[in-house]
Amino acid sequence: MTNAAPMQKKLNELSITEAARALRAHECTVRELFDICLTKAKELNPTLNVYLEFFEGPDQDAAIEAAQKRIDTEGENAPLLCGIPLAIKDNILIEGKIVSASSKMLENYRATYDATVIKKLKAQNALFIGRTNMDEFAMGSSTEHSAYGATLNPIDPSRVPGGSSGGSAAAVAAHMAIASLGSDTGGSIRQPAAHTGLVGFKPTYGSVSRSGLIAMGSSLDQIGPLTKTVADAKILQEALQGTDPLDSTTIPTPSPYSVRETPKSFRIGVPFHLLEAGVDADLLATFNAQLDALKAAGHEILDISLPTSPYALAVYYVIMPAEVSANLARLDGIRYGHAARGESLLSDYVDSRTEGFGSETKRRILLGTFVLSSGYIDAYYRKADAARHLLTQEYDAAFEKADVIAFPTSPSPAFKFGEKSDDPVSMYLEDVFTVTANLTGMPAISVPMGTVERDGVALPVGIQFTAPKGNEHLLFTISANVTKETL
Ligand code: GLN
Repeated sequence: MTNAAPMQKKLNELSITEAARALRAHECTVRELFDICLTKAKELNPTLNVYLEFFEGPDQDAAIEAAQKRIDTEGENAPLLCGIPLAIKDNILIEGKIVSASSKMLENYRATYDATVIKKLKAQNALFIGRTNMDEFAMGSSTEHSAYGATLNPIDPSRVPGGSSGGSAAAVAAHMAIASLGSDTGGSIRQPAAHTGLVGFKPTYGSVSRSGLIAMGSSLDQIGPLTKTVADAKILQEALQGTDPLDSTTIPTPSPYSVRETPKSFRIGVPFHLLEAGVDADLLATFNAQLDALKAAGHEILDISLPTSPYALAVYYVIMPAEVSANLARLDGIRYGHAARGESLLSDYVDSRTEGFGSETKRRILLGTFVLSSGYIDAYYRKADAARHLLTQEYDAAFEKADVIAFPTSPSPAFKFGEKSDDPVSMYLEDVFTVTANLTGMPAISVPMGTVERDGVALPVGIQFTAPKGNEHLLFTISANVTKETL
């Protein structure tokens, strides 16, 4: 076939950049764009279980109208996110809406204020279609740990979409939203993005405010975008970043870290010694082919050594549960959440938490309480904290030689339901390449790098890049090289 007309994309299939252009050119209205996303979402939701709730009614109508008015009056000067329908992970507070973190504990909890990221998006007149399913309190890599049932991967519904931001990933991959927000404590944006063929971006720690994010591990958590393109991830990051008086860990823009110039030819460090064991052979071959393509495009591939990195997962699974156990202590049935009433105050606490939390959440609270207990804090928590500093030094040294470091995002493609849910350690191994960016605070991005076949289905897989803190621009540039975008 020659000269075939390019297939016209449906409105809900557009990227942020394309939708923003269509709105400004009056090729569609904000209402049409919103409705087509919502209609698609409602059509697929009974099978995929992506959204826990759709936001509809007079407030939404008013938001749609306000966005249209702004586009009509400001035209090209209207913010890029004006009128763009987004899906929001169910651990990010939107005033007046239920925010449950996919837990029975917060089933009826209504947010009393907007998360800072929501305030920023509202200021641009972005729209929120609904809240998306996730692993309970963001703990998991498959969305199977939700109290409201698992989300299905739109590419192969017999498989998980990844986690914990599985709902936010499936929403964009199935065109039930133009883009979405997730949160990433150990890989929860990047891993589901890889499993659903999207771009997933975790910013430098502190570059996006955590105010209004239900905390999992406070020294690790960051909010970030899941998008169809690298350009869209950059747009959302630019909209969300910046200091916030409500989060004292936020850093200003431009970043106080040493910001590097974007090189013409990148030095891409690859710790090949970490990939030998545990990565599926065909996924590794796809990764190597991607490296070859980058080399052919003029970039340099360096074999680097990260000797402490094999301990990163163990370090993460000590630090993270320690923080989880502290953060979730407030959910006691008295101050917040599911409230059971027993014979005594103690049984009120015990029953509320026993009934309200799922088993993975309980496992992590127990683990975290254990590693912080007086007899064990030196043996576990303090050792992990020391190793965390070593890891950071190791990466700082590696970034003397390399501009970015590349890994496969996860060791295998999306897995089948139930394959790992009874074996926590095999589930935790999913995070082997993603947790280091959270432990060290580095920004990291996952971009689609191709597919591998399982049971006759081509499943997407991702390449992950990390950069020194404050150097997200390096990640966007090298990623756009992979996706062949011009930013
Ligand atoms: N999968 C990881 C975990 O289970 C990461 C979670 C996250 O990033 N929220 O802890």
